[in-house]
Amino acid sequence: MAMRFDLITIFPEFFAGPLDHGIVRRAREAGLIHVHVQDLRSFTKDRHRTVDDRPFGGGEGMVLKPEPLFEAVESLLGCSVGEATTPNTADPGLAIVLMSAAGRLFNQEMARRYSQLQRIILICGRYEGVDERVAEHLATEEVSIGDFVLSGGELPAMLVMDAVTRLLPGALGNEASSQNESFGANRSSVPLSLRPAGESDAKKGLLLDFPHYTRPAEYRGWKVPEILIGGNHAEVAKWRQQKAMEKTRRNRPDLLSGE
Ligand code: SAH
Repeated sequence: MAMRFDLITIFPEFFAGPLDHGIVRRAREAGLIHVHVQDLRSFTKDRHRTVDDRPFGGGEGMVLKPEPLFEAVESLLGCSVGEATTPNTADPGLAIVLMSAAGRLFNQEMARRYSQLQRIILICGRYEGVDERVAEHLATEEVSIGDFVLSGGELPAMLVMDAVTRLLPGALGNEASSQNESFGANRSSVPLSLRPAGESDAKKGLLLDFPHYTRPAEYRGWKVPEILIGGNHAEVAKWRQQKAMEKTRRNRPDLLSGE
């Protein structure tokens, strides 16, 4: 059965481009995923189709009101939020995710967990954010895509959807490729020989991807490393691990420190 994504947004047209390219497009066409974009304004009742209001307590900007968001989710689920999210009646195959700069940081492990679900509802905030009752009583989780603030939850939602979709069986041409990439399930850990003395196994860091090269073998005088052209698989594997280690140390020392 196709995994279903519902995107709740005030900008439904926003997703036209990203949904129509590459792996996400292919996954839709192959029936691996079904994507429904829900215009939040269809759940407003006034003439101006108002989705936002001024913040209690004062301060800048506007806040997305709770009513249209609760009603949008309930209409998508065909049941009350209480039924959908209380632990004993909740559907374990469902996540209701609020995109939020103040959420838990999204990572590949979360993408893998989401890829096991049947349905993900992604709520895209705007303005100064979303009435807190949405995080407390509607969303099952609050997720950030990084330590920076964007103007809306649409790009974050698309990013989560992309990361999850490419993990679904059959979404990538080559199944192995989502296992061995940076942060992949089979990503090599720092080899014992390269670990600082006394470092426990629990603290072993994961390595980022190794550098890739393709033709031409020489470009503007820069040569592809000899070892990759030689065809000695054991040597190539060793070289890749070494280079992955160097790159991880240079770009992401935090991954090695075991924090
Ligand atoms: N006042 C908020 C920022 C609001 S930005 C704060 O200081 O945390 C408006 C909307 O953009 C948010 O409601 C959220 O849906 C989205 N957004 C912004 N940055 C994000 C991030 N890093 N991850 C996920 N969503 C984000």
